[in-house]
Amino acid sequence: MSPSKRRVVVIGSGFGGLGVAVRLQARGFSVDLIEARDKLGGRAYAYEQDGFKFDGGPTVITAPFMIDELFAAAHRNRDDYLKLVPVDPFYRIEFPDGRFFEYNQDEAATERGVALFSPPDLDGYRRMIQHANSIFKKGFVELADRPFLKFSDMLRIAPELVRLQSYKTVYEFASRYVGDPMLRRVFSFHPLLVGGNPFQTTSIYALIHSLERQWGVHYAIGGTGSIISALGRVFEELGGRIHLSSPVSRVLTEGRAATGVQTSDGKEFRADAVVSNADVANTYTKLIDAPHRRKYTDKKLRRMRYSMSLFVIYFGTRKQYPDIRHHTIILGERYRELLDDIFRRKKLPDDFSLYLHRPSATDASMAPAGCDCFYVLAPVPHQQSGIDWATMAKPFRDKIMQFLDQHYLPGLIDSVVTERMFTPLDFETTLNTYRGSGFSFEPIFRQSAWFRPHNESEDIRNLYFVGAGTHPGAGVPGVLSSAKIAEQLICDRLLN
Ligand SMILES: Cc1cc2nc3c(=O)[nH]c(=O)nc-3n(C[C@H](O)[C@H](O)[C@H](O)COP(=O)(O)OP(=O)(O)OC[C@H]3O[C@@H](n4cnc5c(N)ncnc54)[C@H](O)[C@@H]3O)c2cc1C
Repeated sequence: MSPSKRRVVVIGSGFGGLGVAVRLQARGFSVDLIEARDKLGGRAYAYEQDGFKFDGGPTVITAPFMIDELFAAAHRNRDDYLKLVPVDPFYRIEFPDGRFFEYNQDEAATERGVALFSPPDLDGYRRMIQHANSIFKKGFVELADRPFLKFSDMLRIAPELVRLQSYKTVYEFASRYVGDPMLRRVFSFHPLLVGGNPFQTTSIYALIHSLERQWGVHYAIGGTGSIISALGRVFEELGGRIHLSSPVSRVLTEGRAATGVQTSDGKEFRADAVVSNADVANTYTKLIDAPHRRKYTDKKLRRMRYSMSLFVIYFGTRKQYPDIRHHTIILGERYRELLDDIFRRKKLPDDFSLYLHRPSATDASMAPAGCDCFYVLAPVPHQQSGIDWATMAKPFRDKIMQFLDQHYLPGLIDSVVTERMFTPLDFETTLNTYRGSGFSFEPIFRQSAWFRPHNESEDIRNLYFVGAGTHPGAGVPGVLSSAKIAEQLICDRLLN
């Protein structure tokens, strides 16, 4: 049958959902993209208020070639739709003792930085980069866009995983090569960007640092939201149909095969394949009746481990802070213990580490003239913590803003002109994520690759997954890879 006769429904319009929708529509399928919120983007939803533009989530664009590749799959040139620019430095990492470390794509400059910061660590740093590059070649270049549907896929790579010492954690990996406690933090924080605890996440995730070095860290002019709107535009130009404010309430099934979806207003969309970009655990527990699920039962999903959540404050100031970099990571005194509180003990600590985003450092269009646009986020426990965010949000917000005012953004409290927050409760309700996690399943070894929910459902035929909760995992490059994998699986199934 020709692809245009084949219908596909995609639930959710995060990067993964938009990615697969664009790809399949470009291949000739007839695609309906159904989104619960009033705008596209999911975690990458963009807010506009009082003349400021705030990207809701992703701000660090690594592997920009994957975005180009997606436009190319739609027979488009990305340059005609949006402009990506490199960010330099990638990050500034601030330490509690007042020192800081910056790095960028310039290898020699980063080596000089390491040598200045901790002279004995230069040699180890060089060896660490070599090791990280071999993980990167295996983990990203060879495996990220392959499906892991069979256990034999896992067995095939097992010897390599052992050789690369993926049984070690990212922190152990960094500590093997560098001795300075602060540099160990610099070269181990990356799993936090995809919801993992550096003390528990497999060292495969050390590849993120190589990913940054290989292609740089980029920013989309107009914010990450401009990538989302461009993809939405491309999808519609190709003939795809977008349905906003239309939460899917049920995946329709015949026997154990998906035949379409029903939205909360009772409308049915029949399809030959259903792709869920909604949270995997919630897709199973909320949209598919329990008797249809043999593997992903409610009990199994309750027992799986979920990433931490995030507390985010978006704010605009009437003045500018030109000394603040585009991406700043502010590390507190405690590292391992703080992460233990968040991931293991699930309690709201008194202290915090922060990521501060200042897009107006690169792009004046994000704020009115003379103003600055920011968001600050703190990793916090997911909703199993029992924290009542309705009452805790305000004091936690005040503590963070006062800290920033005192240490990094003098006069902040008096210069805020607009503000909004997003708490774990919003992740749970507005974004419909299981336990309000920020990044779905925690990226630990026993929840990665074959062990992660597959891109093709193990319980329901014709149901596919894209996004953070399936292989390869969270982060924009990861979810774009999942879209590529799902496209291939659906074409293999429906066109052969
Ligand atoms: C604050 C924050 C900062 C981040 N920063 C970065 C970064 O700098 N770089 C990076 O690479 N990654 C970053 N990430 C991670 C990255 O944003 C995510 O992993 C990625 O965007 C998730 O995309 P996704 O495809 O899984 O879809 P999601 O963004 O999770 O979207 C899923 C969509 O499904 C919709 N949906 C859910 N249920 C239903 C339903 N029943 N019916 C219809 N629609 C439904 C939701 O409304 C949502 O729009 C960040 C994440 C957060 C939260």
